[in-house]
Amino acid sequence: MPVLVMKFGGTSVATLDRIRRAAKRVGVEVAKGYDVIVIVSAMSGKTNELVGWVNETSPLYDAREYDAVVSSGENVTAGLMALTLQEMDVPARSWQGWQVPVRTTSAHSAARIEEIPADNIMAKFAEGMKVAVVSGFQGVSPEGRITTLGRGGSDTTAVAFAAAFEAERCDIYTDVDGVYTTDPRVSPKARKLEKIAFEEMLELASLGAKVLQTRSVELAMRYKVRLRVLSSFEEQSDNAGTLVCDEEDIMESNVVAGVAFSRDESKMTLVSVADRPGIAASIFTALSEGGVNVDMIVQNISEEGRTDMTWSCPTDQVARAEKAVADAKAQGVINFHEVIADTDVAKVSVVGIGMRSHTGVAAKMFQVLSAEGINIKVITTSEIKISVLIDRKYMELAVQALHDAFELEKAA
Ligand code: ADP
Ligand code: ASP
Ligand code: MG
Repeated sequence: MPVLVMKFGGTSVATLDRIRRAAKRVGVEVAKGYDVIVIVSAMSGKTNELVGWVNETSPLYDAREYDAVVSSGENVTAGLMALTLQEMDVPARSWQGWQVPVRTTSAHSAARIEEIPADNIMAKFAEGMKVAVVSGFQGVSPEGRITTLGRGGSDTTAVAFAAAFEAERCDIYTDVDGVYTTDPRVSPKARKLEKIAFEEMLELASLGAKVLQTRSVELAMRYKVRLRVLSSFEEQSDNAGTLVCDEEDIMESNVVAGVAFSRDESKMTLVSVADRPGIAASIFTALSEGGVNVDMIVQNISEEGRTDMTWSCPTDQVARAEKAVADAKAQGVINFHEVIADTDVAKVSVVGIGMRSHTGVAAKMFQVLSAEGINIKVITTSEIKISVLIDRKYMELAVQALHDAFELEKAA
């Protein structure tokens, strides 16, 4: 039997009624002759509640226990989905990550999937089970402890299963009917894309478009998984949603495919550090050893042998970054006057593989922001993206102005 992977996100399983609706969709695929692996998220809001409980109990929590708690939301949905399917006379069984087992690294709260043996579930399919409902977002470490894959990780579970079981397709059911040129909640003019290239989706996801977890796109690209994003609320059809595919499979595309944004960025500046060879190495080694994921970097003009060094990092790592540079200063590794953290910033990015062959995208982006009176604090570019850091209060304005200027509401 061909295998299909269907993943339902939090809002798609938020109530018993929605679980029933999702189960009906699964039933339709089973009737077509598929063996289905259903990956479920926790009911919407559940994971946030669990994270809140952990933080309240233990602010500097033991990450192993964090994972034990926050992985539990998915188990409830998996059992309920299996029961719902059984009520519909569809032979179904639930599986927690460790039962499969989804083997991961031991990096608690950000573990990576290393291996998913297919034999256990395949044996059940051979016995007549039609649907394996698997808790998304979780796995088991080499030490035998429960791990989680980072927020939004059920997408990655789904793609990893599709690769391991050589599924015909991996369908990601969510609360929007596909991937848009930008988050439709921020820009009413956002347009649904029929297809998007893996590389563009990878950039959009890593720059903040949470419709797919970045790692899931990486895996789909590497293992050539047919990945589709579609709505669990709307009527189903064979070409519904957005297909994430190779760029060769897209006939026409705009120079800029989409605009992404991220609210949880902060800008940090070390004021007055000695401008000498090795200073950047010392600062960023200290940050890296302190577990800080630095994103953008600028070194300001040097005056009288002193300079300012600025970087951006996730807001929840600011305290860690402050500690890392303070420790390095105490050890005499670096010297600076003060460290300033600006947590009221946002990152806005334009993404498109067309930028490889078109010039002027950056100039246009900066002109658009300037015309809106938005000051750019930091800039980074790569082959297919340009990102700027701006004051957070201008984020929506910037996204909409860029969406208009690059005419993303119109198809190429
Ligand atoms: P799920 O719970 O189903 O995993 P998520 O909330 O993780 O759903 O992801 C879906 C959300 O992603 C949408 O509701 C939308 O607000 C947001 N989003 C951000 N950028 C985009 C985009 N470019 N296209 C579609 N949705 C986007
Ligand atoms: N429930 C987890 C989260 O909210 C994983 C997921 O839904 O993908 O992050
Ligand atoms: Mg998600």
